[in-house]
Amino acid sequence: MKNLFKFGLLAFVLTFSGCQKDDDSGNNLPGNNLNTGSSARDILSAERFGKMVIEVHYASGFTPDAGVLNDLKTFIDTYANKPDGIEIVPKQIETPATNSYSFSDVRDIENQNREVFNEPNTLALYVFLSDKDFSENEGNQLTLGAAYQNTSLVIFQKTIRDNSNGFGASESLLTSTVLHHEIGHLMGLVDLGTSPQQSHEDEEHPKHCDVETCLMYWAVENQRAIGMIGGMNAPPDLDPFCKTDLKANGGK
Ligand SMILES: [Zn+2]
Ligand SMILES: [Zn+2]
Repeated sequence: MKNLFKFGLLAFVLTFSGCQKDDDSGNNLPGNNLNTGSSARDILSAERFGKMVIEVHYASGFTPDAGVLNDLKTFIDTYANKPDGIEIVPKQIETPATNSYSFSDVRDIENQNREVFNEPNTLALYVFLSDKDFSENEGNQLTLGAAYQNTSLVIFQKTIRDNSNGFGASESLLTSTVLHHEIGHLMGLVDLGTSPQQSHEDEEHPKHCDVETCLMYWAVENQRAIGMIGGMNAPPDLDPFCKTDLKANGGK
C-alpha cells in the first residue's frame, strides 16, 4: 500500500553550467534555452516583454483542468507586469513510448513540439504535463516537477495523479501547487536570478525560502506538501520576503 512518505522531491530546479547561446533570433532578444532563473526580470517586468504566451503541452488522457490553467494565469498576473496580457495555449501532443522520462527526454519532447518562442514584446513559456514518471525517482524520492531552463518547466502529472486524490489533496490542487512553485523558480526565487532583499534563503535547501508556510519552502518538495495543502482550497502563497524580492526585480 502506498503511503504519504512516498513523497520525495516535489519540485526541484536544475541549473546547467556551461555555455548556452542565445537563440539566433537576430533581434537581440534573450533565447528560450538559457539557465533557470536567468529570465526572471523579463518574466516579472514589462521592460522588454509586455505580453506572455504559455504553451501547455500534454499527452492523451492528461488534459489540464480549466481551473488549473486559470489559477496559473491568476498567479502570474498577481506578480508579473504583463499589461498586454497573458495567454495560455494548451495542446495535446504525441509522446514517446518509454516507461519514464529523463531530463534529456523532456528536452527532446520540448524541442520536437515547442512552437512559441520569444518575439518582440512577447515572452514565451513552455509547460509540459508529463504522462510518465521521472526516470530518476528512487524510493521515497518522487519528483513532481522541475524548472529546467529559463522559460521551460515540466510537471510530472502522472506522478501527481498517482499520489493525490485519496491522499489528502486533490490532483488539481497538488498540480497548481507544483506549477506555481516552478513558476516561482522561473521568477528567480530564491536567489535564482532575483536577489533576496533580506536574507531568507534556506541554507540547507538552496534556492528555497526558509518561511515554513511559503510556496517556496523546501518542504513543499516532500511528503509534507500534502500536510501543507490538505484542507486548503488554494495552493500556498508566497510569503512577504518572496513577494518583496519579486517587486524589487520588476514584479508587482
Ligand atoms: Zn523548488
Ligand atoms: Zn518565501
